[in-house]
Amino acid sequence: MTEYDCNVAIIGSGPAGIGAATALTKRGVKNITIFEREADIGGIPRHTKHLTYGLLVFGRPMTGPNFIKKIMARCKNVKIETNISVIAIKQNSEFEIATVSGVQKARAQHIILATGARETTRHARLVSGLRPQGILSTAALQQYIYSFGTCPFHKAIIVGTELVSFSAIWTLWRAKIRPVAMIEANNRITAYRPAVLMAKALGVPIFYNSKITDIESDDKLKTISIESKSGEKHKFECDGVIFSGEFIGENSLAQASHLQINPQTNIPLMDENWLSSDVDVTLIGNAAHPADMGDQCYLEGLKIGNVIADQMNHKNDSIKSFIAIKHGSNIKMTTPNMVRMSHQSAKNIDILLHVTKQYWGLVTVKYAGKTLYQKRHRCLPARRIRLKNIRLEPLNINDKSSIEISLE
Ligand SMILES: Cc1cc2nc3c(=O)[nH]c(=O)nc-3n(C[C@H](O)[C@H](O)[C@H](O)COP(=O)(O)OP(=O)(O)OC[C@H]3O[C@@H](n4cnc5c(N)ncnc54)[C@H](O)[C@@H]3O)c2cc1C
Repeated sequence: MTEYDCNVAIIGSGPAGIGAATALTKRGVKNITIFEREADIGGIPRHTKHLTYGLLVFGRPMTGPNFIKKIMARCKNVKIETNISVIAIKQNSEFEIATVSGVQKARAQHIILATGARETTRHARLVSGLRPQGILSTAALQQYIYSFGTCPFHKAIIVGTELVSFSAIWTLWRAKIRPVAMIEANNRITAYRPAVLMAKALGVPIFYNSKITDIESDDKLKTISIESKSGEKHKFECDGVIFSGEFIGENSLAQASHLQINPQTNIPLMDENWLSSDVDVTLIGNAAHPADMGDQCYLEGLKIGNVIADQMNHKNDSIKSFIAIKHGSNIKMTTPNMVRMSHQSAKNIDILLHVTKQYWGLVTVKYAGKTLYQKRHRCLPARRIRLKNIRLEPLNINDKSSIEISLE
């Protein structure tokens, strides 16, 4: 007998996990537990205090903490366990948790992984130089400023120009710090172009086609050197660097488990209903597609909660096979990254696409020699592109083809 024996265990209390719990309880599923490793619930929005949440869900902008308060008001009868990290996922929906009294075994009929995403660190980006204090991600910066009311530096540089990088400008602004510069490796910002106006208005120069070449310090950071593709060099005096964006799904649990992983993206396999290679484990929110907006992750959680409620009520036992979804260059990932098909019935699916750089091109979806979808799309890395209503005919049992997606 384990202490936790739940119908549904949700790992992570961000917008996606809360959304799934809300839908499941509304559908009458009982005995749901959310496990959260932090002391407070809410995931990333709990320390994002600018008005960038709520538009899609409530029709008005609100801060992250307010957004979490509002969505929690709709989430009733769910047990929430904070300060508990889930440390392993096993076969047969068993899992292990780390608590103050040690490691415990737990069980659920269904496990939802809603563990979010993290930003790529300086080391993973292969930025060389010394290792002084003052090098942070945006998420860590927001915790310092919004949650602890302090800032670890006075003059900072922001590496990256994703939406979250502009969020870092706001956050520094709240601590009365104007960033020295933003550094972008490409020839345009990754976020929507109007964000440039915000940087301009706040007096933050953006250096395009540029990379950090050196980090100089004694025990504290002293200077950052950058160089552009054309060989132009700059040296900035500063005591902080924020490595923002380049999100990676927080999927260490899945990667160390029996779940199958997509070798192209390192994201666990998940089908059109967000079910992983084990139908009793689902992957949702930014763990599945690093990284989308908080409102989108909450709405996805609601949708998937309903799918899981259906599945728990009527387990569908008809023979199903995977069709892998593979993608070509300039495409970062697809959601789903596989489809579960029966040999009897056709189905229509939507596929979400994220790209690696700005692209105006023809998206083609092919399966078993047939073109299933072809349309020109304007693609931006910050925007997800929905390929709607792709029709898949019943599977030929001998056909081992993959669905191939290209962008030309
Ligand atoms: C720095 C930053 C700023 C952002 N700013 C905005 C913004 O201004 N507006 C906006 O719309 N979106 C913003 N986003 C994106 C938005 O916050 C996310 O889309 C949203 O929070 C994703 O929800 P989620 O539930 O998938 O994950 P998260 O919100 O990341 O929640 C995941 C939760 O899982 C918990 N967890 C992880 N692993 C374990 C484990 N093993 N055991 C137990 N618990 C675990 C984490 O502690 C966390 O609480 C930002 C993202 C970042 C990183």
